[in-house]
Amino acid sequence: ATPTSIMVGTGRAAELGVLFRKGQALQTLRDTKVVALDKTGTLTKGQPELTDLHVMPSFDENHTLALIAAVEQHSEHPIAEAIVVAAKARELTLATPEDFQSLSGLGVAAKVNGQKVEVGADRYLIRLGYDLSALNDTAQQLAKEGKSPLYAAIDDKLAAIIAVADPIKEGTPAAINALHALGLKVAMITGDNRHTAQAIAAQLGIDEVKAEVMPDGKVAALKALREQYGPVAFVGDGINDAPALAEADVGLAIGTGTDIAIEAAEVVLMGGDLRAVPSALAISHATLRNIR
Ligand code: ADP
Ligand code: MG
Repeated sequence: ATPTSIMVGTGRAAELGVLFRKGQALQTLRDTKVVALDKTGTLTKGQPELTDLHVMPSFDENHTLALIAAVEQHSEHPIAEAIVVAAKARELTLATPEDFQSLSGLGVAAKVNGQKVEVGADRYLIRLGYDLSALNDTAQQLAKEGKSPLYAAIDDKLAAIIAVADPIKEGTPAAINALHALGLKVAMITGDNRHTAQAIAAQLGIDEVKAEVMPDGKVAALKALREQYGPVAFVGDGINDAPALAEADVGLAIGTGTDIAIEAAEVVLMGGDLRAVPSALAISHATLRNIR
């Protein structure tokens, strides 16, 4: 491509809110075969709400939620925010947690008023030695509805299963259809529950799902997609997404996401709307069509 055509292409993209930090990315984007997207905050709004709370027989619902929310006050995960908001809506008093621990990609733990509280993904509680089989059916049902099941233990006893749901962004279905129309494969990479991820992917017509991926596993998931399909673009918003944005043939960061993600990306989507992704691809195709 000539420097002039690249300038025209990146200029047109900028009008649509797509900033190319490097002109080179317009050419790399042209050869992309698969677009992988982070789920939380990219495909979805990143503002989950607590939808379900089932406590085990000997546990009180409000007391259990108050303990869980007390711990989550110290977490920065969007899930934590959902739980704290739900507890406050019930006007529960949240104690200050002690010995707070956050395990990236797994969950959180702390002492609250002398009680030990552990909250997180199934793999976290299983790792801690809990038997979750009594809640398997409930978890399956929640996941089928596209909700993310989480488990809580109090004083070494399985206490509750809760679920959060994160609404899909308005532009997401149209963006995925447009990517398919351009002949690309679409993949989702997420730390979330496999069944939840699959339910959401099915709803959106996403071709490939990499779920229950630990934060340091996103790069490996991306490499596997490249192996299978060819050059890969990755779209993400979080701190955890920065290594994958750097590894991708083209990294596209959500402009409303974290600075660390933006710095790792070659392309920045100024709004949160994913329809900018097929727009950028279409511009790269149009710009480079006449050259090769
Ligand atoms: P994602 O952003 O895709 O959900 P993460 O790696 O941040 O991926 O988290 C993976 C999983 O770990 C979450 O889906 C959740 O099950 C669990 N988890 C992480 N942080 C928390 C938290 N503060 N409270 C409860 N569960 C958590
Ligand atoms: Mg995210």
